[in-house]
Amino acid sequence: MKDISAKIQQLKKEKKAIILAHNYQRPEVQEIADYIGDSIELSRKAMQEQDAEIIVFSAVDFMAQSAAILNPTKKVLLPTLGARCPMAQMLTVDEIKRAKKLHPNAPVVVYVNTLAEAKAESDICCTSANAVEVVNSLDADTILFGPDRNLAEYTAEKTGKKIIPLPEWGFCPTHLLFQPEDVTIIKQQHPDAVVMVHPECSAEMRKTADFIGSTSKMCKYAKESTAKTFIVGTEDGILYRLRKENPDKKFIIAYDGAVCPNMKLTTLDRIYVSLKEEKYEVKVPKAVAEKARVALERMFQVKS
Ligand code: SF4
Repeated sequence: MKDISAKIQQLKKEKKAIILAHNYQRPEVQEIADYIGDSIELSRKAMQEQDAEIIVFSAVDFMAQSAAILNPTKKVLLPTLGARCPMAQMLTVDEIKRAKKLHPNAPVVVYVNTLAEAKAESDICCTSANAVEVVNSLDADTILFGPDRNLAEYTAEKTGKKIIPLPEWGFCPTHLLFQPEDVTIIKQQHPDAVVMVHPECSAEMRKTADFIGSTSKMCKYAKESTAKTFIVGTEDGILYRLRKENPDKKFIIAYDGAVCPNMKLTTLDRIYVSLKEEKYEVKVPKAVAEKARVALERMFQVKS
């Protein structure tokens, strides 16, 4: 492991590269990364890194696409070609066009967990950290929102607006695994534990939560909270970061099987080959990238 890490560090220097890793990546990948965060924190980081010529984005397809859209002069590499987010595949351009015809006055908000073509067809993007603020910033009471139905429902609860989910049942297969019954069992052993849940979880699961938020917000909450034990309702990769940042606190995953197989495809070996051979470069057609960039930049202008 040390050997491959040293080789990656060497290549990074030679090629003026940086490695960005999502909070759900394997521990050893988080260790080698220059920055760890959620998708948009990482894309912003990429924009600030003026000297970097290559960005290795250790995550899934749509995140690397966003980085490529926001950093058109840099080479963005996705180490594992097959690292695709199934939820991002659930919202098609045709679905958005059909919904626009039915609701011509409703703005289209897409979660960043979408492919570039869907972003290009939207009015504005959002993340799980700022969906409420993005929807509140729009001068409309009816919003078309996709692809995550649970985030759509959560945003509707918080904003009081009518949110039409696109498609009707878009979901994250990993977050859907969390069940309130599991929280009840863990709570019996840890009655003082605080429950943190991602908004991609079901409404029943969200009802168990003391805190609902994105991975970045969970990290902040755990740091600032006086609680000592936390039950965590999001992908298990976050536990590594939470434990590292809070060594005196205890973190228990709400369901052991909550592992995103796509996020775990990226290994140190793959990062090494990716950097060495400069593959797989993420390319977004210019016309699509320009429109998607507008939707992403509109999101950045919303205060959250
Ligand atoms: S955790 Fe869910 S939303 Fe995130 S990449 Fe995996 S499948 Fe997609």
